[in-house]
Amino acid sequence: MKVLVINAGSSSLKYQLIDMADETVLAKGNAERIGIDNSVLSHTPAGKEKVEIRTDIKDHVQAVRMVIDALVHPEYGVIKDMSEISAVGHRVVHGGEKFSGSVVIDDDVMEAIRANSELAPLHNPANITGIEACKSVMPNTPMVAVFDTAFHQTMPRESYIYAIPYSAYEKYGIRRYGFHGTSHKYVSLKAAKLMGRPIEELKIVTCHLGNGSSITAVKNGKSVDTSMGFTPLEGLPMGTRCGTIDPAIIMFLMEKENMTYQQINHYLNKESGVLGISGVSSDFRDLEAAAREGNERAKLALDIFAYSIKKYIGAYAAAMGGLDCVVFTAGIGENNPYIRQKACEGLEFLGIKIDEEKNQRMVGRMGREGEISTTDSKVKVLVVPTNEELMIARETVELVG
Ligand code: AMP
Repeated sequence: MKVLVINAGSSSLKYQLIDMADETVLAKGNAERIGIDNSVLSHTPAGKEKVEIRTDIKDHVQAVRMVIDALVHPEYGVIKDMSEISAVGHRVVHGGEKFSGSVVIDDDVMEAIRANSELAPLHNPANITGIEACKSVMPNTPMVAVFDTAFHQTMPRESYIYAIPYSAYEKYGIRRYGFHGTSHKYVSLKAAKLMGRPIEELKIVTCHLGNGSSITAVKNGKSVDTSMGFTPLEGLPMGTRCGTIDPAIIMFLMEKENMTYQQINHYLNKESGVLGISGVSSDFRDLEAAAREGNERAKLALDIFAYSIKKYIGAYAAAMGGLDCVVFTAGIGENNPYIRQKACEGLEFLGIKIDEEKNQRMVGRMGREGEISTTDSKVKVLVVPTNEELMIARETVELVG
């Protein structure tokens, strides 16, 4: 069974065609600058050179047509005919409280995703456009929606209700939803497999550390708390997002600097995080290079980030009443030994002991998994490359296979 995984943005459409017989990627690519000038489709068949098709891509329907044309192309295609695609799995950012798992897309589901657009105004409308485009090009192929928020719907009320008047939750659905759910689910399942133990008996803290970062407490296979909240702005400081701050800062700044809603929104989402602290970059490679050259604020940004991770590990160990495993994933989690080591430093009292040599060896090894704790560490510390596309494909097979 071959599954096409689609991640649609407002002007982009990323895809992977996965053969679920052995879970291999047959081809992947990205249509960029849809509806803008200089649009391009980059298509990479497995084991072959990337092909770039430059032409005006006026909308997502045309993008999907081009993806299918590339997939069946006599030279760089990987299938003979579109009918070989058994199902399409769509990444959808916000499932609200309605979706606690993946679903086969029908009219009611589309309506519910539309209704959730208020909670994710930048993402859900783009995801809907992607689904509609696929439906128009492949009307007879079953489609599945896999939500970033669904994995966190198992959180208990004390984890997700904010201490503001309860009417905000009742009236507007203001609560913690959490994001990166597909990734947290994938790496926690993989960690249990690597440990050779059933996930139902494990307490795992999963650290998804990328440009956007979040940490989740996974108890017995279920998310019981997570650092992102009503939006992805809460929690760890990120590339350009502030993470958790005292909300009074917002009122103070708006008044002092005469900031509008748009300005403060930009300030907290795009000018803050490690970029804001360092004044150097949102990219951790640049920060490390600057810190090595003696840039104090770059070092401070790295240390604040690592300290924040450490606090979540401690908090979630307390929330779960113990800890068996810490997982690091995504760009920084998979590649940055300094952050991993700093985040775990001083947590020996919890049973966490990092093997410095193993930790250093797990560098720039995207796609490779491994243990970085010592053999006598009570808590296993693992690096597990995330694979959201594969998780989406698996959920799709589960529903339509
Ligand atoms: P993501 O959002 O998961 O793509 O992660 C982006 C972050 O991961 C950036 O801050 C990068 O500096 C970092 N990153 C990605 N790849 C590497 C690598 N090979 N080595 C070091 N850092 C990396």
